[in-house]
Amino acid sequence: MRYSKQRELVMQQVEALQDHPTAEEIYENAVKQCPGLSLGTVYRNLNSLVEAGRIRRVPIPGQADRFDHTLRWHSHLYCTECGEVSDVMLDGTMLQGLLKDQQAEIKDCVMTLLGRCPRCVGAAEQKAAPVQPEE
Ligand SMILES: [Zn+2]
Ligand SMILES: [Zn+2]
Repeated sequence: MRYSKQRELVMQQVEALQDHPTAEEIYENAVKQCPGLSLGTVYRNLNSLVEAGRIRRVPIPGQADRFDHTLRWHSHLYCTECGEVSDVMLDGTMLQGLLKDQQAEIKDCVMTLLGRCPRCVGAAEQKAAPVQPEE
């Protein structure tokens, strides 16, 4: 398969998987359609797609990078319980207002928040509910 075709295949997988897949997850899906594909090739294609600005890299501390096809301004919440990465929408004007030096201009914000996703918070509350005394 030609290089440009492989890159489009990788791009399709990032779009199809939606939820911020890792390079391994992209590889596992892509190799079904292109049996000779290697993980190294997938990494190389992901890097060039990031450089071309067609996808974003989502860094997770201590974990494999995730990839994202959503290009508009947003950051991510990494759930330390279930490992889910979800989008956190940001108000660019508000962020700009936080700057001490208003000569500077914010173009984007690459930030990974660590915490618990709404599902894990809900599950913990349900577990905790029966033992809580009523007031
Ligand atoms: Zn979670
Ligand atoms: Zn995202």
